[in-house]
Amino acid sequence: MSSLPSVSVSPVALLVQKFGGTSVADPTRIRDVADHVARCRRRGDEVVLVISAMGKETDELLRLAHEVSEIRPGREMDMLITAGERKAVALVSMALHAAGVDSESYTGSQAGFLTDTNHTNAKILEVNADRIREALDAGRVPVVAGSQGMSTDRDVTFLGRGGSDTTAVALAKVLGADACELYTDVSGVFTTDPRVVDTARKIHRISFDEMLEMTAAGCPKPAMRSVEFAHRHRVPLHVRSAFTWEVGTWVTEEDPDMEEAVIRAVVADLSEAKVTVTGVPDRPGIAANLFRRLADADVNVDMIVQNASEGGVTDISFTVPRLELDQALQICEDKRAEIGAEHVTSGQRIAKVSVVGAGMKSNPGVAATVFETLANHEVNIEMISTSAIRISCVIAHDQADRAVQVLHDVFELEKTEF
Ligand code: ADP
Ligand code: ASP
Ligand code: MG
Repeated sequence: MSSLPSVSVSPVALLVQKFGGTSVADPTRIRDVADHVARCRRRGDEVVLVISAMGKETDELLRLAHEVSEIRPGREMDMLITAGERKAVALVSMALHAAGVDSESYTGSQAGFLTDTNHTNAKILEVNADRIREALDAGRVPVVAGSQGMSTDRDVTFLGRGGSDTTAVALAKVLGADACELYTDVSGVFTTDPRVVDTARKIHRISFDEMLEMTAAGCPKPAMRSVEFAHRHRVPLHVRSAFTWEVGTWVTEEDPDMEEAVIRAVVADLSEAKVTVTGVPDRPGIAANLFRRLADADVNVDMIVQNASEGGVTDISFTVPRLELDQALQICEDKRAEIGAEHVTSGQRIAKVSVVGAGMKSNPGVAATVFETLANHEVNIEMISTSAIRISCVIAHDQADRAVQVLHDVFELEKTEF
């Protein structure tokens, strides 16, 4: 059985290593990171670091902004939030010097990240990594601030929550790195959140397709945009622990030796809310009209369910990120009058629970098992959606942990050996 990861990096390699907030949360953690980099350098590896803001600093900066003002221009928010990463890179670089490693810190702009002008969630347009290459050639370890760049308008931009993973993958691509290592506070990608289910198992190797479905279903690690980018540019990802340094999870192209699990993982997402529009006239174009309006306002609609119509009217429910709920409700209210619908209601206390696995394509009965298991544990399903390799159910918020546990048990994921 080929259960062990067959991906390896050459004895001497160019590695992009990204450290998340908990991995650089305090001086001790920062010194541990520096010691780790020093060990890699002694082994002969070339290393480029990408660093997130320390601990919960990004949340703290966001909270401060909300406390100071109701008016928070995107440009100023980005100037504020990117300060977190800027502080962290300087400290990491100092710790490297103390560990005997020559290094230099760079903001996203100095590292050559050119982005669009979409503040608070900017997209990378180009990476001109000349300066990073020069530092490497000079034998230094470049320490790059994650999740930031400079826009085509020459303003500082933030790439969004979790954007440091994307910074790391983009650098790995332009530098032709052997791997992009994402260091975090768990030892890899697990069959479910190891903080919720203690029998969760580490997945040694997973394909980009399954990883993408897991992140789309709400798995926070690695950030979705970074997985998309890595998939597109074939950058092997290694998700691993900055606490134990053990081998973690390789996310790579599918290969014929890879074992196909019927179910690979169970994922819960508690970040969405539900909107229901009742008494919607059942005519062609009504749904198109509503969802076009939501799309134009950049509201990210996820699951959509339309009931069978009765007496010429129907109900439409959909989920959106909770942060976009107010906007979605406003648009639905505006449309309600226009299309002659009855009511717009919302539910915030929902959770989306998903099972993901490439093997479900060729194994009938997975959906039935999911529904039966939830029913046997008195969990009511409010909405269902599926892809070829995922089944998602919306349930009550406070039943999420229980649902994850029973689904993890029924598919015996605690016996995973992939
Ligand atoms: P970082 O800040 O290091 O980039 P995050 O905090 O965003 O990382 O994500 C790591 C967290 O993701 C872990 O602490 C873990 O609780 C959570 N998590 C949820 N589901 C999973 C999963 N299936 N595998 C691994 N971690 C998961
Ligand atoms: N510090 C930012 C965040 O918390 C970016 C990142 O960590 O990727 O989202
Ligand atoms: Mg994080």
